[in-house]
Amino acid sequence: MSTTAAPTPTAAALLGKLETLLGKGGVLTVPADTHPYFLDHRDLYTGAGLCVVRPRSTEEVSAVVKLCAEAKVPIVPQGGNTGLVGGSVPDDTGTAVLLSLGRMNRIRSMDAVNGTMTVEAGCVLQDLQDAAREADRLFPLSLGAEGSCMIGGNISTNAGGVGVLKYGNTRDLVLGLEVVLPDGRVWNGLNALRKDNTGYDLKHLFIGAEGTLGIVTAAVVKLFPRPGAQETVFMAVPELDDVMGLLNDARAASGDCVNAFELIPRLGLELVLKHFEGTRAPVETVTPWYVLMQWSAGAGAGNAQEALRAALENFLEGRFEAGVITDAALAANETQVKELWKLREVLPEAQTREGGSIKHDVSVPVSRVAEFIKRGSELLEKRMPGIRTFPFGHVGDGNIHFNVTEPVGMGKQAFHKHWEELNRITHDLVMSMGGSFSAEHGIGRLKRGELAHYGDAIDLELMRRVKAALDPDGLMNPGKVL
Ligand SMILES: Cc1cc2nc3c(=O)[nH]c(=O)nc-3n(C[C@H](O)[C@H](O)[C@H](O)COP(=O)(O)OP(=O)(O)OC[C@H]3O[C@@H](n4cnc5c(N)ncnc54)[C@H](O)[C@@H]3O)c2cc1C
Repeated sequence: MSTTAAPTPTAAALLGKLETLLGKGGVLTVPADTHPYFLDHRDLYTGAGLCVVRPRSTEEVSAVVKLCAEAKVPIVPQGGNTGLVGGSVPDDTGTAVLLSLGRMNRIRSMDAVNGTMTVEAGCVLQDLQDAAREADRLFPLSLGAEGSCMIGGNISTNAGGVGVLKYGNTRDLVLGLEVVLPDGRVWNGLNALRKDNTGYDLKHLFIGAEGTLGIVTAAVVKLFPRPGAQETVFMAVPELDDVMGLLNDARAASGDCVNAFELIPRLGLELVLKHFEGTRAPVETVTPWYVLMQWSAGAGAGNAQEALRAALENFLEGRFEAGVITDAALAANETQVKELWKLREVLPEAQTREGGSIKHDVSVPVSRVAEFIKRGSELLEKRMPGIRTFPFGHVGDGNIHFNVTEPVGMGKQAFHKHWEELNRITHDLVMSMGGSFSAEHGIGRLKRGELAHYGDAIDLELMRRVKAALDPDGLMNPGKVL
């Protein structure tokens, strides 16, 4: 178990001031309490820290940051701690204060006519989806960790998820931000405007900054009309080369109503069925590839649900005749929709249960997805015969979780020794195809080396200048991103 380090006199003085400010319950120092905050979701990093602070308001965050800035003590912001690149935990020096946003979880206001809600950073994503639904609106950000990730974390990682195709990344869903700057001042950018060209749009600096430029304390996020109709289908697609064409045809046939388009490989489905009791294959036909697709449409005229279903059935019929799909299961009710999505959501966990895995969250231009998967698989299979490639995910956005599982019987430790080499092969290919080695998970600690390796010199210089301008003492989430 990680421990909190014995504090130096300066650190002890800071601890005392923090306790006076936040009360005993607002400052955790006992290892049994702090341990979950210091361990990252993937078990890759265990950090240590002076303490965990749990402020309840922007004023308290500001006061904490001022105290830390005076004492030159680094701060690591944390939301739901579901990030996959080790960004939300401190290093093991024990010098940092971990600032958890979990107690800042109020929805400050909802404006259904403006299509916005103003929310605190510690609101759990699923709670925001529910609140929007109660106001007959949609907050479309949706990802596997939505039951525990928090909106401040989503903003700080510019999270993607399964709705990007229609609604964009988190960046596209944010109108305004409130941020506590590294010197403790509060920047009030809580703008609820859809048009505002008054100089640099500063919020974009903090979106995706992974806590290295300041602490997001609140945000104005966009709401949308709830779709009047939704259809979900699971399709067997024998040829990888047909997958992206299938997406384009679906977008055209539906009047651009496709809101999710997720690739699942046969190995993925097999491992889900093997490791998750009660799951079942939605289609009998066994093919190398499956696609989970969802269409959603507004209420429109007449019966929107019937119209959407008829359009989808018509589309599927055409794709059957063309030989692009060989089987399909249309969800008949909400339970079946959930069952289909479960198959997709548990894919990463199924892979973890199978043994050693190495993950690559990459993207390439949408038109090159199939080419990338084929070339990448060939390269890795040549390097390590028996390696099991496991590419899945949001291919509608060109985002592939190009994961690999150990050859049967190799063992996790032996497989993980090849981590960097397999990363290099994969990322070299991605970069040569005009792609990104971090599509949606960010850089954190895990991909810092990759950013230094592949980053454009001018990009990196500008990033360092921005960092130095906002955080000259380097106290905000040190050792992450840059
Ligand atoms: C099962 C599963 C599925 C996932 N699916 C997806 C997916 O589809 N798409 C996707 O993009 N990601 C996905 N993720 C990754 C993760 O859920 C997202 O990155 C999420 O946005 C992180 O939110 P969080 O609140 O857990 O942030 P944390 O993990 O706590 O923090 C992430 C980073 O943001 C910083 N940070 C957190 N809060 C703040 C704040 N208020 N101010 C400043 N900095 C802050 C942290 O310091 C850290 O660098 C998935 C993770 C899991 C476990």
